[in-house]
Amino acid sequence: MKLIVQPQVRPPFFEGWETDKATYRFACDACGSDIRVTFSEMLQAAWGWQDRTAEPERTTIAAAFDIDLARRSIADGMDAVVRSSCPTCGAVHFSHFWFHEYRNSAYQISLRAIASNATPNAD
Ligand SMILES: [Zn+2]
Repeated sequence: MKLIVQPQVRPPFFEGWETDKATYRFACDACGSDIRVTFSEMLQAAWGWQDRTAEPERTTIAAAFDIDLARRSIADGMDAVVRSSCPTCGAVHFSHFWFHEYRNSAYQISLRAIASNATPNAD
């Protein structure tokens, strides 16, 4: 796994309740295509990414993103790791968000890190 955005606390890129505007975009590390992460993917990841990610991948992701798997904070936010495949080349990426419902149905979302499973061609 290769970090393409280093883990860091950042200001929210989205705040509010118009969640159709919360889509996060980044460039595929392998081919540069646009990869989009939707609000519903982040929401699902916040509530279940750990349960849906098998070992050893879960431990690898937690180590890369500096996530404490024992901590499942809800009051001040949650870790959300979304797995995305590039729509053009299929390279797998993981994006890590801090996902916080600060009022009923109002959210603050910030990016923590992005990693790629893409491997450069050996020959
Ligand atoms: Zn790609």
